[in-house]
Amino acid sequence: NIKEYWSRYRSVPIVYRIGAAFVLGSILGLVVGEPATVLEPLGELFVQLLSMIVIPIIVFTLLMGIRRISPSTLGKVGGQILALYAILSGIAVFIGLAVANLINPGRGLTLQEDTEFDTEEAPDFLDVVMGIVPEEPIGAMAEGDVLATIFFVIVFGMALLLLAENSDDEAVQSGVESIFNIVEAGTEAMFKIVWGVMEYGVIGVFALMAAVFGEAGAGALVPFALLIGALLAAVLIHITVIYLGGLILLLTRESPIAFLTGSKDAIITALSIRSSSGTLPVTMANADNNLKINEGIYGFSLPLGATINMDGTAMYQGVAAIFAANLVGVQLTLAEQVTVVLIAVLASIGSAGVPGTGLIMLTMVLTQLGLPLAVVGFVAGVDPILDRLRTMTNVTGDLAVTTVVAHWNDGIDFTSGSWADPTHGLE
Ligand code: ASP
Repeated sequence: NIKEYWSRYRSVPIVYRIGAAFVLGSILGLVVGEPATVLEPLGELFVQLLSMIVIPIIVFTLLMGIRRISPSTLGKVGGQILALYAILSGIAVFIGLAVANLINPGRGLTLQEDTEFDTEEAPDFLDVVMGIVPEEPIGAMAEGDVLATIFFVIVFGMALLLLAENSDDEAVQSGVESIFNIVEAGTEAMFKIVWGVMEYGVIGVFALMAAVFGEAGAGALVPFALLIGALLAAVLIHITVIYLGGLILLLTRESPIAFLTGSKDAIITALSIRSSSGTLPVTMANADNNLKINEGIYGFSLPLGATINMDGTAMYQGVAAIFAANLVGVQLTLAEQVTVVLIAVLASIGSAGVPGTGLIMLTMVLTQLGLPLAVVGFVAGVDPILDRLRTMTNVTGDLAVTTVVAHWNDGIDFTSGSWADPTHGLE
C-alpha cells in the first residue's frame, strides 16, 4: 500500500510537488513562527546538492549545444539567425535588469544571517572582462568560476568541431566522436542527477520556506509577488517593444497582429507545457501554415532556437539576480550586472528548452556572483508560474527572429496565411 502511495506521489509532476511544498512549508512557518527555523539544515542540504551540479552541467550541456552548431551548417542565413538570437538575448537580460532595478523584488525580506555572503570589493568592468579567460581551466572549475568555465568549454568545443571538420587523421576523427558521445552520456547522467536533486527538493523547499516564513512572517509574501510582477512586466515589454515593434513592425513592416495571430498556438502551447522543445512541432506548424515561412529557414532556425535562443530564460536571470541581491541586502554593481548578461547569453547556448532550465541556469548566475544558492530554493516554489512566462517569451522570440530572417531572404509569403488576414495591411 505504501508502494501504491509512493507511485501515486511520484506520478505528480515534480514542479507541482515542489509548488505544494512551497505552500505547505510557508504555512507551517507562518503558523509555528520562529521554531520552524530548525528545519533550515534540510533546506541547506538542497542548496548544497544544487551547488554540486553547477560546473558539471555547464561542461556537459555546453559541449552538447556546440556540437549542434557545427560551422559547416552555418551559411549567411545561419549567421543572421545566430546573430539575432545572441543580440536579442542580450537585450532581454538588459530589460530584465532594468525592470528589476525599478521594481526591486526581494526588498523587505532578508535571508538568515548565517548565509555567508562576502561583500568584498566589487570587481570593476575590466576585471570582469579579463576574468573571462581562466588562467587555468581546472582551477576555474574548482573555484566555481562560471564565466571562465564557460569560456574554456566553448573554446574546447570549437576546437573539437574544427578537428571533426578538417582532420584527415582517422584516430582524431574517432576520438572527437568518442568525446562527443561521452558528453552525450554525461549530459544524460547529469540530468538524472538533476531530477534526483529535485526529488529531494520537495523536502528542501518545504524546509526553506518554513524557515523563511517562520522568521519573517506574512510580510515575506510580498517579495514573491513582486518577483512574479517584475518578470511579467519585463516579458511584456520585451514582446511588445522588441518583437512586435522592433522586429515585426520595423524590420519586416508587417502587422504585429498578424504575427501574433499566426503564432498563437505555439504561444499558448508554450504557456501550458513550459517547454520550448516540447512546443517545437506546434511552433513549426505555425511557421509553416500561418506565417508562410519557407521550410529551409524555419527547419533550421526553430529547432536551433528551441535550444539556444531563450530570451525569457535569459531575462529571468537578470530579474532573479536582483531579487537575490536584495535578499542579502547588497547592490549589484554595473560590472556584476554585465556579468549576468554574459552568463545568461552564453549559458543559454547549452541549456535545453525543457521545464525548469531557467532554474538550473540561475544556479550558475548566483554561483558566479557569490550570491546564496538558497535563493534557488525560494524561487523554485513559484517557478511553475515564472517558467510559463519564460517559455512563452522563448518561443515567441524564435518565431519573431525566424520571420525577420525569412523576410530578409525572401523566404516568406506575406499574401497568404495569417498575413492575408483582414487586419493585415500596413503598407
Ligand atoms: N522552460 C523553458 C523553455 O523550455 C526554459 C526555462 O526554464 O526557462 O524554454
